Amino acid sequence: MDLKTLYREVILDHYKKPRNANALESPDREAKCKNPSCGDRVTLQLNIADGMLTEIGYQGTGCAISQASTSMMTEAIKGKSIEDASKVVNAFREMIVDGNENPDKEVLGDLITMGGVGKLHARVKCAMCGWSALEAALEEKGDEIDMDKDKSMPDSKRGGI
Ligand code: ZN
Repeated sequence: MDLKTLYREVILDHYKKPRNANALESPDREAKCKNPSCGDRVTLQLNIADGMLTEIGYQGTGCAISQASTSMMTEAIKGKSIEDASKVVNAFREMIVDGNENPDKEVLGDLITMGGVGKLHARVKCAMCGWSALEAALEEKGDEIDMDKDKSMPDSKRGGI
């Protein structure tokens, strides 16, 4: 199976069967992200104990890429220390936003299949929506993140599909 086919199958699998797509009852932290240019929304909750992300849950609506990327993110960071989770976030951001062509496979694991999204500039904000909510939750930023106001995102009109 080539990477493109794998990418499509992984996205569809997570979109149809989202992981951790449930609200936590009394979360330690919560953060929201919206991506108005596509209509994606993610609300993310975390429970943290002794520096570990013990529980994670989210509620989301939007396109397949935004929801699958969020679902994959929850699986990748659940049970990790905040420090290790931040490494995953940084490696994912470098691969998707900065176009790092040699992403760290050990840190990213299955997330490596999402690498192709970085070439589709219009979808980068979709892929990063849940991750931006995670960054906001980890850094305890209170407001809802708006992907259209995130200066680090590539211009969505600059190519791609
Ligand atoms: Zn989207």
